[in-house]
Amino acid sequence: MAEYKTPVLIIGSGPAGYTAGIYAARAGLKPILVSGEQIGGQLTITTEVENFPGFPEAISGPELMMQMRKQAENLGVEIVDDKIVEVDFKHRPFICSSENHHQFCGETVIICTGASARWLGLESEKKFRGFGVSGCATCDGFFYRNKNVAVIGGGNTAVEEALYLTNFAHSVTLIHRRDALRADKAMQERLSKNKKIQVEWDSVVEEVLGTENPLSVTGLRFKNVKTDQTKEIKVDGVFVAIGHHPNTEIFEGQIELTKEGYIACRPGSSRTNIAGVFAAGDVKNPEFRQAIVAAGSGCVAALEADRFLQEHK
Ligand code: NDP
Repeated sequence: MAEYKTPVLIIGSGPAGYTAGIYAARAGLKPILVSGEQIGGQLTITTEVENFPGFPEAISGPELMMQMRKQAENLGVEIVDDKIVEVDFKHRPFICSSENHHQFCGETVIICTGASARWLGLESEKKFRGFGVSGCATCDGFFYRNKNVAVIGGGNTAVEEALYLTNFAHSVTLIHRRDALRADKAMQERLSKNKKIQVEWDSVVEEVLGTENPLSVTGLRFKNVKTDQTKEIKVDGVFVAIGHHPNTEIFEGQIELTKEGYIACRPGSSRTNIAGVFAAGDVKNPEFRQAIVAAGSGCVAALEADRFLQEHK
């Protein structure tokens, strides 16, 4: 068991965490960043990122995160690939314990733990997860060359995954519970132009169908909520893309959360209800969920942590 001490402890390695690290390191605060389980965060399961400024030809999500990590390391951020499993915010310095039984002691803490994918909650979805049900087209799409797949959801992620899957699959059925997509107009246009994609509107998935031995998806049953009609389609893969929930379980009881479970921060600030604990990125902001927004809020959190340390010398 090792004990790490730092003026600024950063939890999480998405755009918010790395940016907070970059700013804290440049302010001479010798930050330590604990990466968490999904190193690089949600962007590591994204394909092309066209809207992060500075990359005119687009960049892949994993590559972008690798660049951020290298930049943070080059500037002196100490990155520990471990996962914080318990925090104690009752006194400063704050103590955080990790999965590998290390102890991290921070004069300030910046929470950048992001959000994770949501699941439909069906028994059959759980049963076939990893055997035809996936939460990541980028990770698993390759296995569905010339096959038929379905994507569930109506946001940007669902549309992006459906478009991505057309690179491999024979056909893609997008199943959405309403009659209008939440995805932005540009994505909707790309979707409507793609002949490999059909959309099933007003449809709620009832069951993922498949075989027992071997465990394998063969189809999907869903119901049209307007006509009450049930339909079955044959698919080999089901990609669930219905949004995210904040990764705040370890902070419950230690810090104020919103009713949706996000870290509650002062308006326009990264400050939480605990003096010296800050939050940045998707874990505090369910509204925009963009890498650039997360990066910006990581910067704000580092600047506010710096100010706090100056005031509490
Ligand atoms: P969203 O919350 O935007 O969309 C979730 C979708 O899933 C909605 O269409 C919602 O339906 C549907 N849904 C939610 N729960 C269920 C359920 N239980 N059963 C069936 N359907 C359900 O999440 P996304 O992951 O799509 O996007 C998150 C954020 O990331 C957004 O701000 C998005 O713009 C951004 N993003 C940007 C990208 C880009 O710019 N390249 C790429 C990917 C994401 P309903 O609409 O009825 O609520």
